[in-house]
Amino acid sequence: MPSLAGIKHLIIDMDGVLYHGDRAMPMLCEFFAFLRERPIPFILATNNSTRTPQEYADKLARMGVQVSPNEILVSGQATARFLAREYPRGTRVHVFGMPALKQAMTDEGFVLADDNVQLVVASMDREVTYEKLKRATLLIRGGARFIATNLDPTNPSEEGLIPGTGSMIVALEAASGVKPQAIGKPEPTMYQLAMEQMGAYPETTAAIGDRCDTDILGGKRAGLITICVLSGSSNRTEAEAYESDLIFDDIAHLLEIWRREEGVA
Ligand SMILES: [Mg+2]
Repeated sequence: MPSLAGIKHLIIDMDGVLYHGDRAMPMLCEFFAFLRERPIPFILATNNSTRTPQEYADKLARMGVQVSPNEILVSGQATARFLAREYPRGTRVHVFGMPALKQAMTDEGFVLADDNVQLVVASMDREVTYEKLKRATLLIRGGARFIATNLDPTNPSEEGLIPGTGSMIVALEAASGVKPQAIGKPEPTMYQLAMEQMGAYPETTAAIGDRCDTDILGGKRAGLITICVLSGSSNRTEAEAYESDLIFDDIAHLLEIWRREEGVA
């Protein structure tokens, strides 16, 4: 079993790990103080592409945690960075998604358009309409490459599980007859981009997440140490089935054991 003491970098999921909706997890501030003191550099990585890194930083600030937008990677940004390596600046792309995703694409030099595009990048759109589904479908059928930020069928909310990106993607997939390439977890791409940004190596980098079929599976595919916390989506049975390297009740429990391992408790 890998030891916590050997971890030099972290890639941390947010919802279900750091907070539930607007409710911070116990010991959230202490956990970040611990990471800053070592220091253990981290990237907060989420499949949810409906907010910008600045909006996530603002949300954490309201919970008393200071994190720079540069320490946050959302799947929309990861998608834009990944595509920017393959396509020149000025490449025309059609975005099916929220303003945060459109911004991520233009930040990387892409031009947003509704015709003559090389790419259709699709994600969650809270204002989805038949017209939008039709436009994206026709472009994919016309030969544009179909990319999805992630495939999560649902997102957690205070009201229960609600439709996520994956629910929109299956509609486009059914209509176009094309399977998209996905970038978010459990694909290893987002973890690889985060490691590159930190100058981290997989053997000494841990992925912390609450969802086995995205966070833990993606961490394994990227060759990282995996840490499942049971404060969100997955339970212990699932964490063991996915062979998560380490399992804790929540970040408070993780922090307690980490301090004990260091002999600081
Ligand atoms: Mg989560």
